[in-house]
Amino acid sequence: MEVLGLLYEGKAKKVFETDDKEVYLVEYKDDATAFNGEKKGKINHKGVINNKISSFLFQKLTKEGIDNHFISQLSDNQMLVKAVKIIPLEVVVRNVVAGSLVKRLGKEEGTVLKTPIIEFCYKNDALGDPMVNHYHIKALEIANEDEIDFIEKEVLRINDVVKKIFLDCQLDLIDLKVEFGRNSESKIILADEISPDTCRLWDHATNEKMDKDRFRRDLGKVEEAYQTVLARLEKVLQ
Ligand code: UDP
Repeated sequence: MEVLGLLYEGKAKKVFETDDKEVYLVEYKDDATAFNGEKKGKINHKGVINNKISSFLFQKLTKEGIDNHFISQLSDNQMLVKAVKIIPLEVVVRNVVAGSLVKRLGKEEGTVLKTPIIEFCYKNDALGDPMVNHYHIKALEIANEDEIDFIEKEVLRINDVVKKIFLDCQLDLIDLKVEFGRNSESKIILADEISPDTCRLWDHATNEKMDKDRFRRDLGKVEEAYQTVLARLEKVLQ
């Protein structure tokens, strides 16, 4: 396989085309951003850690029958993925109240939700990723009703599988953000990454934050938290 040009560079990853039209190479970076790019920094070894964590989780999801873009781990910080066109939605599932939900719902951080909440944000940096609903998604022709229905069912299945894996690691999945893409046959599959950059993970025993909130809120020991998540996953998944 030959790696061709850079197709896209995001805040945390680079995507390269390959000589196979159906295959992209994703390279995970150490760069970290928060608050829509206002806060910038680096988390040492994050690229390697998140590539490994995402690879583990995507493989596990494949085994559970959840179609996703993962093909193989190519190197410590690179994976090969199926080429898709990303649907410009951040699909968030929340199991426990955290982040902006504290203010929006007037609930205490850590309140367990009776049922998961799904939220959609329109991926658009210039607009600050505004929250949208089914009507916006259809009116903007981002996805049709059947596709939204599929995405909602799929994201709840993803939440169930990932929540269980992390619980085996003594971590509570507070919330997570995923992205979907359409392959060459217009089939919608899970894409992007699943890592401590895109999930809130709290230690089950102590409620200590083990995710990007450590970076967002300057809590210190950011790399250590990411390393701990990887080490615990390696222990239960091998
Ligand atoms: N998230 C993400 N990328 C984003 C925005 C959110 O991965 O650009 C994740 C975040 O890590 C968290 C979940 O989505 O796990 C919900 O975060 P949100 O930004 O909605 O934060 P909140 O509204 O809770 O402050």
